[in-house]
Amino acid sequence: MAKRDYYEVLGVSKTASDDEIKKAYRKLAMKYHPDRNPDNPEAEEKFKEASEAYEVLSDSEKRSMYDRMGHNAFEGGFGGGGFGGGGFSAEDIFSQFGDIFGNAFGGNGRGQQRQRRGSDLRYVMELTLEEAIKGVKKTITFSAPAPCETCDGKGAQNSSDVETCKTCHGSGQVRIQQGFFAVQQTCSSCRGTGKTIKNPCHSCHGSGIKDRQQTLEVTIPAGVDNGDRVRLTGKGEAIRGGQAGDLYVEVVVREHDVFQRDGADLYMDVPVSIADVALGKEIEIPTLDGRVSLRIPEGTQTGKLFRLRGKGVRPVRSTMTGDLLCRVVVETPTHLTERQRELLIELQQSFGESSVNSQDSKKKKGFFDKVSDLFD
Ligand SMILES: [Zn+2]
Ligand SMILES: [Zn+2]
Repeated sequence: MAKRDYYEVLGVSKTASDDEIKKAYRKLAMKYHPDRNPDNPEAEEKFKEASEAYEVLSDSEKRSMYDRMGHNAFEGGFGGGGFGGGGFSAEDIFSQFGDIFGNAFGGNGRGQQRQRRGSDLRYVMELTLEEAIKGVKKTITFSAPAPCETCDGKGAQNSSDVETCKTCHGSGQVRIQQGFFAVQQTCSSCRGTGKTIKNPCHSCHGSGIKDRQQTLEVTIPAGVDNGDRVRLTGKGEAIRGGQAGDLYVEVVVREHDVFQRDGADLYMDVPVSIADVALGKEIEIPTLDGRVSLRIPEGTQTGKLFRLRGKGVRPVRSTMTGDLLCRVVVETPTHLTERQRELLIELQQSFGESSVNSQDSKKKKGFFDKVSDLFD
């Protein structure tokens, strides 16, 4: 069964604001929430569908990926990347639900405490077209928050300096009443770590985290294109008492002198002389892995596209290789020798005399008639 469009699922327009998306999701989630629809698989399906749509559309980065690539943006993935497919476990749904509603439906034990997690980081990697198409291994150097080496990420001078937080008794969370809802909040005394420090480490001032220059080798799979991302799990921002975020290496492909890429296809301009297209000629053209010969037939017009099957690109999520499309561009000769000039004058005169009935000149005549009509 085809997947429904996320905007359609939420019943909002493609230009909907974050607020409109949130409202639409809230309405659907209220209506189809499993607590209100026990043993109703249809409602459960609707609830999951809405949650999935909201997960993507509420995140500006995922939303723009979805706008560009549709559902493909989140399918398959590569190098452990992507967004982990479209599947949502019940826990994902409930923890996400908790974000919006607090514990309005709480007390069922499902809205369990989420682990604290560092931010995801983004690294933009510039590649040549060849690197993007063939894949490449690159070493990147970047600075990111990492566990402090002096205190081994503990934030304290000695292990005995770390104590359980007295405010939250080590849970890292406090419950506060907000109107009708009881809301879980991160404990401000220990910033959610559940621990306080008596003698902070001098190097990181007790945070346990320090910016550190890091070097990593990244494997870029063959076929990536602008905007594709490779995820390096746990290489993002590190935080004390929680899980490190991920590092996303985003690909930007430099323009190529010869080839332009459009998905799986490559385009190139093939400059040829007026004599070559008029008389026909076999010419050599470059491809990504060598050269091939291309037969330009007699009488080829400028702008004509020749397709070389299978000489294009195999995109990263595809099993099919695209084509190389060669666009014939007739070059008008300049810097003529005397002899060439004579020959062309002769040619010009011969056209004037003999080609009145040829298709070529019919087209030309039609054109000049139309032009003069404009000025009548
Ligand atoms: Zn430290
Ligand atoms: Zn605390």
